[in-house]
Amino acid sequence: MVELLKTLVSYETPTRDKAAVDKMGAFMEAKFHELGASSVTRIPQTEVGDLLLAKWNEDAPGKPIVFLIHIDTVWPLGTLAERPTYIDDQDRLFGPGAIDMKGGITVALETLRGLKDRGEMPNRPIWILMTTDEEVGSVYSNPTIKAEMPKAGLVLVMEPATIDESLKTMRKGVATYKIDIEGLPSHAGNQPEKGINAIIEFANQAMIINGMNDLKNGRSVSVTMVEGGSATNVIPAHVTAFVDTRAINVRQFQETEEMLLELTPIVPGSKLKVERINGHTPMERNEAMIRNYAQVKRIGEAQGLTITEASSGGGSDGNTVASLGIGVLDGLGPQGDGLHALHEHVVLNSMPRRCTLIAAMLKEWVFE
Ligand SMILES: [Zn+2]
Repeated sequence: MVELLKTLVSYETPTRDKAAVDKMGAFMEAKFHELGASSVTRIPQTEVGDLLLAKWNEDAPGKPIVFLIHIDTVWPLGTLAERPTYIDDQDRLFGPGAIDMKGGITVALETLRGLKDRGEMPNRPIWILMTTDEEVGSVYSNPTIKAEMPKAGLVLVMEPATIDESLKTMRKGVATYKIDIEGLPSHAGNQPEKGINAIIEFANQAMIINGMNDLKNGRSVSVTMVEGGSATNVIPAHVTAFVDTRAINVRQFQETEEMLLELTPIVPGSKLKVERINGHTPMERNEAMIRNYAQVKRIGEAQGLTITEASSGGGSDGNTVASLGIGVLDGLGPQGDGLHALHEHVVLNSMPRRCTLIAAMLKEWVFE
């Protein structure tokens, strides 16, 4: 597993570098065949790396269990030269992309290898959908995710576990809004009263927006970027700002959107426009999630594993799958920390534990 993880990290795969990502794609395609896939379909892309859909036992009865993996990382080419892979004295492997999510890919591949080598591959359809643009919001892979995932009985998102090896049974919804404010320019010395100050309008709105926070109940609303004004002696006519919002359930997600879209101007004569520029609805900890988690816990504990759950403030493809109403479990990758950060690492001895859990799930899982 360590050798495979090192190999996967050695492929640098920044999302926007199609040629680099496709190199790892070719490695993955060969790996899927080596592991006995009954078919591997390439879904070509022009802007990002090609997607792959690999299937095992595709003619076996029942709906497939699908591993959802992404091979792209946030790290530009050359990061590996600056921060080469190494293992510290606590058996943690450091390297760009190690925990997000090459560790999870290692777990998925090695689980299948283990089952195959032991002749224990269960007679049920098992798929891997490999995407290449998760780190930029899965814009290009979303159509494929939305077309293929509804065929699944259960989707296993191989994003990392939390630092304490918990699964992720809730992910907040995330949406970004853009605010445009228009005032009227005027000379700040001669006729300040003839201007409409877009920054003052923004300042009023910023306080209202900040008041939408309800951290206790999971809603955060943060003004994160602002730009306005044109010269030190001109009443500013324009402001553009961005707001990051997070919500724990679909109702709260929609409420937040309504509050933002219903903002009205305070400074007389100013104009205000609010629009959502991206968003992921929440992966709710709903009835289906609670039942699926209970089944994982039962299966894992029968293997002598400790199974715990946690939530995440960030989105993943798990949010998209959940929005389709498909059973999904997230955070099935290894334990580790430092996603998108310099201390990114995988706790190596968590990988065999995750493989044990997932192998047992593939053998025993009952769709409810
Ligand atoms: Zn990831």
